[in-house]
Amino acid sequence: MNRIRVAIQKSGRLSERSLGLLQSCGLRFAHSKDKLYWYGRDFPVDLLLVRDDDIPRMLLDGVCELGIVGENIAQEVMLESNAGGDMTQLRKLSFGGCRLSLAVPEDSPVQSASDLDGCRIATSYPALTTALLVERGINAETVKFSGSVEIAPGLGIADAIADLVSTGTTLRANHLVELEVLFESTAALYGQMAKLTAEKKTVLDRLLARLDGVLLAAESKYVMLNAPRDSVEKITRLLPGAENPSLMNLEGAPERVALHAVCREAVFWEHLEALKAAGASAILVLPVEKMLA
Ligand code: ATP
Ligand code: ZN
Repeated sequence: MNRIRVAIQKSGRLSERSLGLLQSCGLRFAHSKDKLYWYGRDFPVDLLLVRDDDIPRMLLDGVCELGIVGENIAQEVMLESNAGGDMTQLRKLSFGGCRLSLAVPEDSPVQSASDLDGCRIATSYPALTTALLVERGINAETVKFSGSVEIAPGLGIADAIADLVSTGTTLRANHLVELEVLFESTAALYGQMAKLTAEKKTVLDRLLARLDGVLLAAESKYVMLNAPRDSVEKITRLLPGAENPSLMNLEGAPERVALHAVCREAVFWEHLEALKAAGASAILVLPVEKMLA
């Protein structure tokens, strides 16, 4: 068996982006909608669709070699299992961003995180929250809640909560105020590397090279413009993350050249305005679909 299994969230905030990312790497799957196992068609990588909470355990138990899950959950399970087993963060991803924050009721006497000594904190991430509180010298008790953590203070079960926040709307709707961010999280690709055979390692390396290409392409832009021949150096310096542009002659305009470059950082309107001020014209910014370094 030289096939690799990747576990992703079946349905939730990470599902679509996780599947999309793997598809951008050229993976195609034979599947039926309700099945939890999708067979990789042209590449020996199969998918397991599961609850996100189960992914770290599946990696630690060797049920799958790869998994895409939030760092919040990965950290929680690793701390819970006393870092037993093997699970390596291979790539941090650009989606699933959120923060684990401390929050208290609007009318709470607690004004800052340091007032939480001796308090009870409701959270779905007790191991991670405890570790982060200890780091800050706060000695509080955590109470595990599997969902709807935000109702715990109202029920008199806890003085504060540590919960995932992205916009803060849920906190406000429950009359809670954010005290302090404990942990910033995104989705990440994790691997269970200990027992990989040489064949699986080869498949994994190929997949990671494609993934790096996709991640790099996502933030890169191909810029084309015309520039005065004597401003090429200045204009190249204004292009974010660009090196060694290609220069081409422009028929009938000997004093100007066409310049093409890959910019490996975001290109904003401010960059284009600066380029124009430096003499560039006919500036085009194009997305890059794939890239292999
Ligand atoms: P499952 O049924 O798979 O257990 P779930 O309800 O636990 O799903 P989701 O709400 O889909 O999970 O969240 C999955 C992950 O998305 C979280 O663990 C976290 O990493 C990330 N995330 C991003 N923004 C938020 C947010 N505002 N609230 C909760 N999770 C968020
Ligand atoms: Zn979950």
